[in-house]
Amino acid sequence: MSELSLRTSAIPVTDPEAGLRLTEIFYSLQGEALTSGLPTIFVRLTGCPLRCVYCDTEYAFSGGERQSLETIMATIASFPCKRICLTGGEPLAQPNAIELMTRLLDEGYEISLETAGALTVENVPPAVSKVMDLKTPSSGEVDKNLWSNLDYLTQHDQIKFVIMNRADYEWAKEKLLEHQLDKLVGTVWFSPMFNVADDVTVAANKEMGSPEVPVLARELAEWMLADALPVRFQLQLHKIIWADAKGK
Ligand code: SF4
Repeated sequence: MSELSLRTSAIPVTDPEAGLRLTEIFYSLQGEALTSGLPTIFVRLTGCPLRCVYCDTEYAFSGGERQSLETIMATIASFPCKRICLTGGEPLAQPNAIELMTRLLDEGYEISLETAGALTVENVPPAVSKVMDLKTPSSGEVDKNLWSNLDYLTQHDQIKFVIMNRADYEWAKEKLLEHQLDKLVGTVWFSPMFNVADDVTVAANKEMGSPEVPVLARELAEWMLADALPVRFQLQLHKIIWADAKGK
């Protein structure tokens, strides 16, 4: 399938009364992107049409609980914070996510939206900071990238590549230059696949004398230095602090 062939129609208007299927709401430090390290309320919606090989939130693929937007807003209001990360799963798989974002903005919340980049971001309110993935070949979902989404990104938004190996790095570099992504959005992130639960990775890291930092992270850092790319390196802070603990 070509990069441009998987287009989806605009998100349909649905009944706000139907609410949203929700996996969890929790309060923690943001572990990624520009608000990394800041206290944040995470709203994790259920469901995702993708199946990335490195997915660390498979528990959000199904289940959850359908809740009204009013109930979700009340839970959010119980935390001492006005910063929200809407995540999943894929939040945009549920059309009412747009309505939730609109209501939260009206209440003065600052919102970042983590999206896989496979569904249109056209209807996301402009005040929301989109943190959009571009799926690399090793993710197994590169064909799902909806390239027309680039038309809706601004300096207020961010693009993230999760890099699994040198081939992914080369692909990401090619897309960065081809689409001039660093000029399109405020920040482009290159992040090494970071699976701290992987015994092989942990053993390899111990061998290198630093079990907390994956070998791939060091390699990626060196590739980026050698090419002096206009992108930023990131490790997922929450995985360093809390490993794969759910709800953190
Ligand atoms: S898009 Fe995100 S939630 Fe969906 S499978 Fe990929 S990593 Fe998991």
